[in-house]
Amino acid sequence: MRHGGAFGDLTMAETHSPGTDDTAIPVTCLFEGDLAGWRDAAPALDAGLAASAEFRARTGQAVIVPGPDGRPARVVLGLGASPGDVTAFRILAGRLPAGTYRLAGAPGGLDPTDAALAFALGLYRFERYRKRESAPPRLVVPGADEAEADSLAAACALAKDLVNTPANDLGPAELEAAARDLAGRFGATVEVTAGEDLLARGYPAVHAVGRAAAPGREPRMIEVTWGQSGHPVLALVGKGVVFDTGGLDLKPSAGMRLMKKDMGGAAHVLALGAMVMQAALPVRLSILIPAVENAVGGAAMRPGDVLATRKGLTVEVGNTDAEGRLILADALTRASELEPDLTLDLATLTGAARVALGPQLPPFFTDDEALAAAIEAGARRAFDPVWRLPLWKGYLPSLDSEIADLKNDPDAWAQAGAMTAALFLQKFAPAGAWAHLDIFAWNPRGQPGSPAGGEAQAIRGLYAMLKARYA
Ligand code: MN
Ligand code: MN
Repeated sequence: MRHGGAFGDLTMAETHSPGTDDTAIPVTCLFEGDLAGWRDAAPALDAGLAASAEFRARTGQAVIVPGPDGRPARVVLGLGASPGDVTAFRILAGRLPAGTYRLAGAPGGLDPTDAALAFALGLYRFERYRKRESAPPRLVVPGADEAEADSLAAACALAKDLVNTPANDLGPAELEAAARDLAGRFGATVEVTAGEDLLARGYPAVHAVGRAAAPGREPRMIEVTWGQSGHPVLALVGKGVVFDTGGLDLKPSAGMRLMKKDMGGAAHVLALGAMVMQAALPVRLSILIPAVENAVGGAAMRPGDVLATRKGLTVEVGNTDAEGRLILADALTRASELEPDLTLDLATLTGAARVALGPQLPPFFTDDEALAAAIEAGARRAFDPVWRLPLWKGYLPSLDSEIADLKNDPDAWAQAGAMTAALFLQKFAPAGAWAHLDIFAWNPRGQPGSPAGGEAQAIRGLYAMLKARYA
């Protein structure tokens, strides 16, 4: 369908352009495989452009042709070699000057809503402390569900804004405020257990990790609930460490520098929850966020301390920097009490996940084959990649403690730190369908459409999976 038909679509759109805004600057796009045919016919349309030898239709490669006034008159965009891939639109958003553009010709197999969403994602800037200097470009994509594209892009922007906001402006209280804002938009309810109440209400690990933070920055368990009680329970659990110093096992400077992003899991489950509520999926949604600052102080948990957990298992703290799994243990136990149909936890949990797969490819873990296949299908559908790693039971003994039920710093012999962290979480996860995603939530290399900084990972793919599961 794509080959041959692609060029036909392009010329049809170019010559007829029915019912479109005359002032919008037309954007045509094509895959690498269609380039030769397009060049053959292009002289009739634009000889100068056809002669542009550098244009190979590579992903995001764009030729902006100026008109007599020097302003863009038309744009030709390369889509690369993968059918349906909309990555180019994200890059285009980062390259176009201000103006209104209109997709005038597109090959078959390109989903207009996907293209509009990719463009909207590419417009993201973090503007809390410095506003952008020029207005963003606008792209009209005929046939796109703009409401869906805008809502998904806004949810991803929320995640990125929260990750980018430094810890002096985003403590546990501000994370709670963000959850309350979101709940207010959708009529969800919020219950928060904070400070010493955590002990009385059975969240001892959340308390232990967060209790050394300064006054006003007390640890808390945030629970957002939405949807009819008869619907299947969807539990979204997100690690909310607003800053991770490492605790008394203090991180070195380089390792601490980005730790404002250690609440990335919380930001991601708020964003994914927003997508679910906006789409009004027939679920009983529960967003569970243990929000803490892993600080240094006289009240800090110590190496060698043995913590109680909500589940009743005792955990020896071998390293205070492995704090994420401690707070997630209590949150996952809370999730299991809700008897969920599905539990997803997202956390910036281990450096080992990055050693294995790098910053762009978050690993996920589950023993549920059907869920794994569904997560992979959603990720492909949304061009939002994830990679499955195993919950390899051979490494379970690395969590054995001499004096407690388990410890939070696995033995070095097991090496696979992302897996041993996932195995630790599995001991607390609900019995039913559960998946854990170890996200980076950060883009270390800025490029057009993807500024360096907070990044939303895996949640568009998870949303596609949830839509297929529940809608
Ligand atoms: Mn840590
Ligand atoms: Mn951490």
